Amino acid sequence: MKALIDRKKCTVCGVCTDACPVGAIELKEDHIEISDDCTLCGICVDTCEFGALSLPEVGTGPAADLSSYRGVWVYAEWRDGAVHSVSHELLSAGRVLADKKGVELGAVLLGSGISEDTARELVSYGADNVYVVDRPELAKFTDEIYSNVLVELIKQKRPEILLAGATSIGRSFVPRVAASLQTGLTADCTELGISPEGLLLQTRPAFGGNIMATIICPNSRPQMATVRPKVMRPEKREGYEGEVERVNLPESCFRGRVEVLEVIPEKDQTGRLTEADVIVTGGRGLRKAENFAIVEELANLVNGAVGASRGAVEEGWIAPSHQVGQTGRTVAPALYVAVGVSGAIQHLVGMQGSKVIIAVNKDPHAPIFDVATYGVIADLFDFVPALIKRIRRERGEI
Ligand SMILES: Cc1cc2nc3c(=O)[nH]c(=O)nc-3n(C[C@H](O)[C@H](O)[C@H](O)COP(=O)(O)OP(=O)(O)OC[C@H]3O[C@@H](n4cnc5c(N)ncnc54)[C@H](O)[C@@H]3O)c2cc1C
Repeated sequence: MKALIDRKKCTVCGVCTDACPVGAIELKEDHIEISDDCTLCGICVDTCEFGALSLPEVGTGPAADLSSYRGVWVYAEWRDGAVHSVSHELLSAGRVLADKKGVELGAVLLGSGISEDTARELVSYGADNVYVVDRPELAKFTDEIYSNVLVELIKQKRPEILLAGATSIGRSFVPRVAASLQTGLTADCTELGISPEGLLLQTRPAFGGNIMATIICPNSRPQMATVRPKVMRPEKREGYEGEVERVNLPESCFRGRVEVLEVIPEKDQTGRLTEADVIVTGGRGLRKAENFAIVEELANLVNGAVGASRGAVEEGWIAPSHQVGQTGRTVAPALYVAVGVSGAIQHLVGMQGSKVIIAVNKDPHAPIFDVATYGVIADLFDFVPALIKRIRRERGEI
């Protein structure tokens, strides 16, 4: 976007050329030209006494006719033949939003060799329509081609709301889609709703997690939000009926400048942490790196993953990939055991969706007890080894 020229009013006086702080206005023989360097600062508009310059209205570009946008969409993330579980969570949340607005719920599936069953499964989570773009160019994720395709689909079908997972893929290309469509995007929402006016209410922690901000996008479409995995609950709707549409798009969408040669899977705990049914997390109460051994021992015993508070990560006792919380991973396992973790709000937002929370802390006033299902007020160095011993004894291992 750049400043606009009304050629009928422009006298080619050159005042704006001199005024432009970034040299984006060039004086030609009988006209002026504004280059892409324009920052929309508006100085030229103020200096032009003939009213020949103006700024484009933000948010009323391609999406000006808001009423022509209808429906809620979920970007269903497909990786190596499988749909990411966050897509099921978002479809369930999207279904509620679509019902509130009385509109249809669509799912977008981009990939290569997508089976009918894979597409149909999205219907069982409440999608009325599944739009499949199946092309060899989509076999491996690249920002450029994936965003070209999603932008083109949105332009053609005009959904009013688009939800996507705040996964590494979602975080990578969804902002690009929003920028291309000149619309807003709220990242890492923890709650979604519909206002009385029908707008998407996008709630997320702000100011370091101290307040929850609800954000709206009234002037542009689609209204876009990302949500971290495990924040919403998936709900299957057996017998739900919907349509699968395989969509053909212009060849230009599939041209990219990047070729993915190889994908090397992560070796760290991160993937395991978000998928684990049981997580045992250690905090600063552990006092030193070596003491993480008791957390690891307990985690191994219950087939769980090892989590950490930022306090423990900052001490350098464990790798950042284990961190749970606002700036770490959001998790929602069946069982979350917090050992020596105080329960700062930034930690809680990443784990309070866990089904059962057991907190071990020697301070009875520690905030972790506010969210704990079972609170153990004890010295962790007494309690955890005793618990390990008890489990081993119950299993006949000692
Ligand atoms: C913008 C921002 C983002 C952040 N993101 C995150 C995040 O993603 N994740 C996160 O965890 N934090 C995050 N934080 C940091 C957060 O505010 C806390 O500082 C951090 O969670 C504290 O870690 P902790 O609970 O391990 O340590 P502490 O707050 O020091 O708590 C240690 C706890 O251990 C207990 N304890 C001590 N000894 C024992 C013992 N022997 N037996 C039993 N209990 C004992 C103490 O009573 C205490 O409650 C963030 C902060 C900011 C500002």
